[in-house]
Amino acid sequence: MRDFRSALLIDAALHREANARGENYWPLYAHEVLRRIGLPHEVIGAERLSVDGLAPLSVLILPPLPDGYLDAGQVAAIGAWVEAGGLLMGFATEGLDDVFGISIEGSLDHAEDEFTASGCISLIDPEWADPLLPPYERASALPVIAPMKLVSAPDCRELARARSFFERDLPRPAVTWRAVGEGAACWWAFDLGECLWKMQQGRPVYEDYDGDGKLRTMDMVTTRPWSGDIPYGDLMSFLLRRVLAEAGAVFLHQLPPMPDGTVPDALLHWGGDDEGATDVQLPAAEFMADLGLPYHINIMQSPVGTHQMPQETFERLRELGCERSIHFNFITDVEHPHRFTREELAAQLDSYLAAYGKMPVCTVFHWVSWTGWAEPARWLAELGLLGDNNRIHWRYPPINPANKVAYAFGSAYPQHVWDDARHGNVRIPFVSIPITGYEVGYVRDRGLEPSQLHRALDLAAFWNLTSSHFHHPIYLTEEPGRAAVRETLSYLDRRGIRALQMGTDELCRWWHARDASALERVERGPGLLRVTVRTDWPAGCVLQVLVRQENPAGTVNGEAVECVVREQHGALWAYLPVPSGEASAELRCKQDGAGTV
Ligand SMILES: [Zn+2]
Repeated sequence: MRDFRSALLIDAALHREANARGENYWPLYAHEVLRRIGLPHEVIGAERLSVDGLAPLSVLILPPLPDGYLDAGQVAAIGAWVEAGGLLMGFATEGLDDVFGISIEGSLDHAEDEFTASGCISLIDPEWADPLLPPYERASALPVIAPMKLVSAPDCRELARARSFFERDLPRPAVTWRAVGEGAACWWAFDLGECLWKMQQGRPVYEDYDGDGKLRTMDMVTTRPWSGDIPYGDLMSFLLRRVLAEAGAVFLHQLPPMPDGTVPDALLHWGGDDEGATDVQLPAAEFMADLGLPYHINIMQSPVGTHQMPQETFERLRELGCERSIHFNFITDVEHPHRFTREELAAQLDSYLAAYGKMPVCTVFHWVSWTGWAEPARWLAELGLLGDNNRIHWRYPPINPANKVAYAFGSAYPQHVWDDARHGNVRIPFVSIPITGYEVGYVRDRGLEPSQLHRALDLAAFWNLTSSHFHHPIYLTEEPGRAAVRETLSYLDRRGIRALQMGTDELCRWWHARDASALERVERGPGLLRVTVRTDWPAGCVLQVLVRQENPAGTVNGEAVECVVREQHGALWAYLPVPSGEASAELRCKQDGAGTV
């Protein structure tokens, strides 16, 4: 057995120097990218780039580095380590062209400011990349919100192709891979950290870019002018995961087990805003409770400082199992465009606490308003909230994109917010959960129109996504909205999709618990994988690993556990549920000599 260890190089001095210049240090976010796909990794400095320092590692991930950063000894040590079996991954890393098998011949800058795409990529490798998309989406291009290098790489396998801002084939590889001795080298023509930070966190909103008259998360969307119909950032992450998995990496899955300990196909979360109404909350919550579904209501002050919903309704919602939270309102009693402040947030929270006496967990802002970049997340974390469900699914216009599933911020999964350069680019203990399905499944004056709903559920099952089902309580008092919710359950049943159901708070809590969970040790040997896992989430967590055969045997703490193997995206992926607490999980091939797990 050998330890399988991955490392990400982050140079603390480069980070400090960038922040001192007032610039964000974009490569930092590679850390977030790896956490989102659940790859356990250590962060190392350049002093580890030696023969001895690299020897214990199986994977080394390098960010973009300044000219001449690596000395000849480091280049030689990295080259020898790859030859001996390491996987080297470079995000637009220069100075190792021979190992990567590339030569840089030009570059493509942002089309406009630094939050616009430079171009896009398409996933083309028939084995590892193309199958990540459903067959009818395979022509889709994924925008790159970072500068791209133009390279030639004649001896590399081309996983993705670079395209211009207008999707013209350049024709250049955007992601390359090649075997090097016993190891391999994979090179991305852009900094994946920068790209996904800008895509998932969006553009700072200090002005009304889109012209709807207000400052909203729609102004933050950087995937424009691409549609956001598919989760571009998640797809890039899945390609990264595929390459890492091929080298033997193990992942903490994005979804936790079902209450019965089995592995779900998708996670649906339900929530909506009451918009200051007095009479819609209970019938909506009762409807959801009758269907056995969780629900979450964001309660708005109207006018600000006044709560119309009585305390006994708040209690009754609790009895119905309905989560209750605050709906911040910076729309109705202000002049637009309005930049709300920390003081305004704190005042509305005080008013909410005075009315209901319970600290909210995950919020939504009325009309998904926002101000600046990381500021509201930092303020809310300081005030004691854990997350928001405020990133919109579709850019303006229209003003209220109902019955629509999309991923304008490039992801379906919750994401930690990272602070700005003035605040050291620290990771804020606060998660933004994207809205991805907004009033899906019906049209209010026409009734059930389920094509977008079916798409949301099919995509969620295809990629094992968290899937947001945002329904205002008022529409759950009316037949068309109710029909859409019933159709959701019926479709899941008809398609055999096993979905975990949560309220928005619970998903927010899961994402924090996932973040605190750890694959503390990964060991691999012929036909055997052993992982030491720790999680506090009551239902446990799920390990995800590529396998070569359909029937590996799983055990946890020595007891047999059913391991789900799915033929997915052109490969066999095994999912092993692990219970809460400390556990030793093993996966082994039943036939000897059948290759590695
Ligand atoms: Zn609202």
